[in-house]
Amino acid sequence: MFNNDLISKLQEECLSGHPIPIDHIEVKRDSLRHIPGFIKEKEYNKVMLIADTNTKKAAGQSLIDFLNKADIDSEIMVLPEDRHGHVIANEETVMQVFVNTPASIDCFIAVGAGTIHDITRFVSGKMKVPFISVPTAASVDGFTSKGAPLILKGAKRTIQASNPIAVFADLKVLQEAPREMTAAGLGDMIGKVTSILDWRISYLIGGEPYNELASDITKQALMECINHIDQIGRNEEYGLDVLMEGLIHSGLVMLVLDHSRPASGAEHHLSHYWEMDLLQKDEKQLLHGAKVGVATAIISDLYKEYFKISDLLRLSDHPDWNERWKEHGPAIQQEINSIPSSDRIKGWIQKAGGPVVPKELGLSDELVQESLNKAYHLRDRCTGLKLINYSRKQDLTYCI
Ligand SMILES: [Zn+2]
Repeated sequence: MFNNDLISKLQEECLSGHPIPIDHIEVKRDSLRHIPGFIKEKEYNKVMLIADTNTKKAAGQSLIDFLNKADIDSEIMVLPEDRHGHVIANEETVMQVFVNTPASIDCFIAVGAGTIHDITRFVSGKMKVPFISVPTAASVDGFTSKGAPLILKGAKRTIQASNPIAVFADLKVLQEAPREMTAAGLGDMIGKVTSILDWRISYLIGGEPYNELASDITKQALMECINHIDQIGRNEEYGLDVLMEGLIHSGLVMLVLDHSRPASGAEHHLSHYWEMDLLQKDEKQLLHGAKVGVATAIISDLYKEYFKISDLLRLSDHPDWNERWKEHGPAIQQEINSIPSSDRIKGWIQKAGGPVVPKELGLSDELVQESLNKAYHLRDRCTGLKLINYSRKQDLTYCI
């Protein structure tokens, strides 16, 4: 499967400041059983598991049993859900964890998917108490991340906090996760089709930082998932192993680089725009990777259509970018031609039973159209979507 030496090599290349601060990563069947040994090795005396009702059932209770058997003092905190049945990473939930954490705790264990990890990493960072990651679904590439996206006063803000000191992904647990969570993880991975391309554009046109090896590792993780798409779609153990390792590798690359460019381009900007809209309307949130997968197909279509004729690109307010486009435009167009079509992207996601058009997510065509014209403001990062918006004469339209 993947070559961890590549991550070490990347670490050496980027030694200017970001060595991987994670002691141990394993993706294995029955990984939960290996956690007590790790805790004993670290000489932690009391651990606190953070979970919700579902993840307590999926892995939390078994882990408590293993810890008890090993005579490790542990507690589990089950986080409350909102009226939509979701745990929300907001002030209230975070405060609840602070208030209910005994001072004697010397390690947290996040047992869950993205949100549980975000809450734990934030509290862990503030209390300077390390945490172990126990993903209960292969749903996102942010498990190893340092950034905790929180909803503060109704708006989303990512705060730099802690990365886990170890990751134990139990394949048996991942295999029993709801299918839509695995499909979301695949969607987050498929997003690399356009994010890697956008990173190239941000480098060649925007003059932003770039690293060939980081791009290659992310590309390899994506290719592994595509090559094993049937096993992932059938929820086979090996398929989940490939998907989880791909997500972890993508996360590690971001951790080493200390930015998310290889894994987050215009498809993520659309997804964030939609998420903010749902937040403002206090509507039920959607899985991150489900939105990213749908957005990736839209961006692939848009780029293939818009960048067909290079003359369309006149960046009058950006003379530098204009010059660079003259030099690199043909190479970028070639790369755009070679990314998979929206039909192929949709076909992959459908194999895992994930949504492929906004309607399946309950999102309106109007919102998608608005995001195509405005989402590029969300990040100060050069993407194909930003180039299109800077050069367009009229609003981009969206209809399916
Ligand atoms: Zn993502």
